[in-house]
Amino acid sequence: MPIATVNPATGETLQTFEALGPEGIEVRLAAADEAARKSRGTGFAERARLMERAAELLEEDLDEIARTVTTEMGKPLAAARAEAAKCARAMRWYARHAEELLADEHPAEADVRDSGARAARVVYRPLGVVLAVMPWNFPLWQVVRFAAPALMAGNVGLLKHASNVPRTALYLEELFRRAGWPRGCFQTLLVGSGAIEGILRDPRVAAATLTGSEPAGRSVAAVAGDEVKKTVLELGGSDPYVVLPSADVARAARTAVTARTQNNGQSCIAAKRFIVHRDVHDEFAARFTEGMAALRVGDPMADGTDIGPLSSERGRADLEELVDDAVRLGASALCGGRRPEGLDRGWFYEPTVLTGVTPRMRIHREEAFGPVASLYRVDDLDEAVALANDTPFGLSSNLWTRDEEEQRRFVRDIEAGGVYVNGMTASHPALPFGGVKRSGYGRELSGHGIREFCNATTVWYG
Ligand code: NDP
Repeated sequence: MPIATVNPATGETLQTFEALGPEGIEVRLAAADEAARKSRGTGFAERARLMERAAELLEEDLDEIARTVTTEMGKPLAAARAEAAKCARAMRWYARHAEELLADEHPAEADVRDSGARAARVVYRPLGVVLAVMPWNFPLWQVVRFAAPALMAGNVGLLKHASNVPRTALYLEELFRRAGWPRGCFQTLLVGSGAIEGILRDPRVAAATLTGSEPAGRSVAAVAGDEVKKTVLELGGSDPYVVLPSADVARAARTAVTARTQNNGQSCIAAKRFIVHRDVHDEFAARFTEGMAALRVGDPMADGTDIGPLSSERGRADLEELVDDAVRLGASALCGGRRPEGLDRGWFYEPTVLTGVTPRMRIHREEAFGPVASLYRVDDLDEAVALANDTPFGLSSNLWTRDEEEQRRFVRDIEAGGVYVNGMTASHPALPFGGVKRSGYGRELSGHGIREFCNATTVWYG
């Protein structure tokens, strides 16, 4: 894939970028290595000052960087602004909490006495240079939710961003530099995915984190495994959205529209499979379809647009193939199911609700990365949970019920990294984020996230 800014609303190539050659990569690896050694000596207070400054600058740049994001990947401008603002909040959260999250642990003297210790403690030290392979869908947030904790822990970051968001990638490098982070602490590598293996095998790189598709995750984890390097993987999802009879159906249906179509439907934690109890199915289906059909699809820069284009021609073609396959095998579209009229230049697709989805259809087990919902009818909670778990993925999940016993059983039985009860999944700096099964492993955000790239070192005093 060429490294280029291509406006998905028009298909126009605005700028292409030369990939770094071996020498350019070497200069950056050397700078990262040196920065990692120096970074160990800086304290939390100094890092917090720099992270707060980065947050301030990002807020000052909000409108401009939001326009860049929208130009490169097509989300509505208001959503791009919200993404940038969320990044600034996460930077501040880690600036304020990193020290306490990584405070030394002191096991009770009585617990370690039989090891011969007078005392012992656990110290969280940085791992060093971490390679971040990141996707285009939240091109600021995916990077910041790695970089804010990693840098606050004393690590340094090397960003290999998706090839369709190079301006955003370069902006992030510049942001940390302007905030005062020393040379090498956070660098962008403009390289294609073919260069990743060599970088990851370099002894100066300690670990990697990847957000993206399963094939990309598998490939990076295989190389890292061969090198015995730590990885965190945040891959796809096909999150269930379960609605049971005691739910506030009107609110569940309204929220479902946002949960499915946020970010033009291209979010790993978007709800994708709507599993509804037969007692409330028809009401939910009617309200949900009405909400989906009412969304305004169009120019992502324009006020009032709810849904912009998909990020690439390939992305739209993949989505169309999933819908066509489902319809061919008996599903029907309650709304959408085609490209909108009058928007021929960009990669637009209508918000779609599919009913009659069965396990034979690809969309039942693959991730639909666009505004397409699959609707299912079930008889009880057990059937809902079985269907919710009938997927290779296990990122997050949504449950709508007022019944506490149903909530307890769902939390016990669902195979996912999150359960959002009477609401939709959203990431938050204080809450761990990540999945099980083919959605990956490890956690981002919260104390769990910052400790992923730390060396929990036992210090024993005889
Ligand atoms: P990819 O997984 O291909 O891209 C994500 C990142 O991984 C990019 O930086 C990409 O670089 C890199 N990459 C791609 N292939 C490899 C590889 N073999 N080894 C190492 N790095 C690699 O996502 P796509 O944009 O192609 O989207 C495809 C599908 O992935 C989507 O339809 C969706 O299902 C899923 N996806 C999930 C995301 C999530 O948030 N969990 C985000 C994006 C996609 P480059 O751009 O240079 O290819």
